[in-house]
Amino acid sequence: VISMRDVSKYFDDFQALKSVSFDVQKGERVVVCGPSGSGKSTLIRCINRLEAHEAGEIMVEGTTLDDTRASLDQIRGAVGMVFQQFNLFPHLTVLQNLTLGPRRVLGLSEEEARKRAMTYLERVQIPDQAEKFPRQLSGGQQQRVAIARSLCMEPRIMLFDEPTSALDPEMIAEVLEVMTELADSGMTMIVVTHEMGFARRVADRMVFMDKGEIVETGTPEAFFTAPKSQRCATFLQQIL
Ligand code: ATP
Ligand code: MG
Repeated sequence: VISMRDVSKYFDDFQALKSVSFDVQKGERVVVCGPSGSGKSTLIRCINRLEAHEAGEIMVEGTTLDDTRASLDQIRGAVGMVFQQFNLFPHLTVLQNLTLGPRRVLGLSEEEARKRAMTYLERVQIPDQAEKFPRQLSGGQQQRVAIARSLCMEPRIMLFDEPTSALDPEMIAEVLEVMTELADSGMTMIVVTHEMGFARRVADRMVFMDKGEIVETGTPEAFFTAPKSQRCATFLQQIL
């Protein structure tokens, strides 16, 4: 459902992605890791067009990404994203955060949007927090709200950019549990994370990036037990 061919991305004269080619199948769970500045965020931000690439082609569900309205609408409908910083609207309640997109973008009635929001709050196990404001929640709860908010748009692909790295250790597990359930439900997922326990359990495929390139990709077993490149082996030694 995602295909990248020779994609390059520049920030002025700095090349953040160097001719990256990468495919993701429907239902596949891919975990992306690599050193800071290697281009992980840039890669997934290009997939949902938060960044525009300069060379190569990205296709999502058969649609080529460009600046046309049709292409942008297709992406926004198909792809959900969860960030390290939860990016909730601070002045809206949890419920209002969840119903905003479905009402404004999908045209659901207030009642329909509310029902849908409660369904997803139950899935992330915090239906009791619906009337609170984000600041009244723990970090782990806020991230679960952010995941539920994304799911309310019923995307077919979910992108996660270090969703647990802003969380205190005791809250990481609850967010990873929600993500594991999402993976078990068959969602197509690309997850940038250094949570290697999660990666081993959930990933169908690991991707290691360094200096704007995909250096190595493979099954978790192969990846963790016998990395092919020295760069990847060194990285794994540092984080494991
Ligand atoms: P981290 O693990 O720290 O999140 P990353 O692998 O996600 O790193 P990116 O955020 O994709 O790395 O950045 C890749 C490179 O592109 C970095 O060198 C970064 O400084 C540069 N870069 C990213 N965004 C911009 C931007 N908006 N303007 C200029 N340079 C940028
Ligand atoms: Mg990043």
